[in-house]
Amino acid sequence: LNPTNENYSNEEIDVEKKLRPLSFDDFAGQDQVLENLKVFVKAANLRGEALDHTLFHGPPGLGKTTLSNILANELNVGIKITSGPVLDKPGDLAGLLTNLEERDILFIDEIHRLSPVVEEYLYSAMEDFKIDIMIESGPNARSVQINLNPFTLVGATTRSGLLTAPMRARFGIQSRLQYYNIELLSTIVERSATILKVPIDMEAAIEIAGRSRGTPRIANALLRRVRDFAQIKGNGSIDIEISRYALKALNVDKYGLDEMDNKILSTIIEKFKGGPVGLSTLATAVSENSETIEEVYEPFLIQEGFLYRTPRGREVTEKAYTHLGKQNLGKQAG
Ligand code: ADP
Repeated sequence: LNPTNENYSNEEIDVEKKLRPLSFDDFAGQDQVLENLKVFVKAANLRGEALDHTLFHGPPGLGKTTLSNILANELNVGIKITSGPVLDKPGDLAGLLTNLEERDILFIDEIHRLSPVVEEYLYSAMEDFKIDIMIESGPNARSVQINLNPFTLVGATTRSGLLTAPMRARFGIQSRLQYYNIELLSTIVERSATILKVPIDMEAAIEIAGRSRGTPRIANALLRRVRDFAQIKGNGSIDIEISRYALKALNVDKYGLDEMDNKILSTIIEKFKGGPVGLSTLATAVSENSETIEEVYEPFLIQEGFLYRTPRGREVTEKAYTHLGKQNLGKQAG
């Protein structure tokens, strides 16, 4: 149940789309972010202008793509969707940009993974709505400048630290998405269950929500798996018994921690006596890069009280020892 998109089959992605909220009103949580966006959208609509370029950052599965689609709906404009690694050459980008209607949104997921040439090319498009394109080839090749329709670039990134300063500076609106609490997640689970036409009781929704790592995408994925168990092993509706049974069978961690979360904690305990350990040393030990640990894994572990940052590095808490069933030997000795 890795929260990133890449591990999902096409069918799962289709269901995910079906569960996606379409308007500000359907979208649960992120109150501050939403409140601001409502103001900016209203103002842009009043003036008939394109919304300022907008950057969403935060861990995977928290609603960055969903919000981008909602922006298009609320602005009543079209949206073209692409991602950093897909845009190889400035030519690919030029094709997309020249096809945008006035006020349309161009959504670039994983914008931190744009190649430097493509990024550079994007600058003048964002700033002046102008791009240079090459026409003809061979000795007649020359570049001409063309005007674009005013548009909104919406960028999403899990790794804001990797975004270059000039890129970041070009976004007038920047919002950081936060993990969801259990109450919000259970609202999302109940809403999704309604769309999937499966009855669920409140206790079961809360149980699923509590194991979802603060992440709507995981909550929805768990709901679908629990629904399978309810249909095959139960009577079709989801109650607390079938939820517990399914979550146990799925080997879902009581706190919703995933494999890497647990690996980070157990590595700090086993190899570094509970810490403190520096970020890069830890990254090498778990074979993950430092930025991903810092921006994707660590925030949740810190929020849930498994880990904390000290000036000398990362340290696990008592809760991490208890969770992993390990003894805190350091403490006993001291
Ligand atoms: P991201 O782009 O941040 O990785 P997505 O926007 O793709 O995340 O969200 C993943 C799934 O989680 C979506 O399909 C959507 O159904 C659900 N989701 C995300 N945020 C919310 C929310 N606030 N309310 C309801 N569902 C949400």
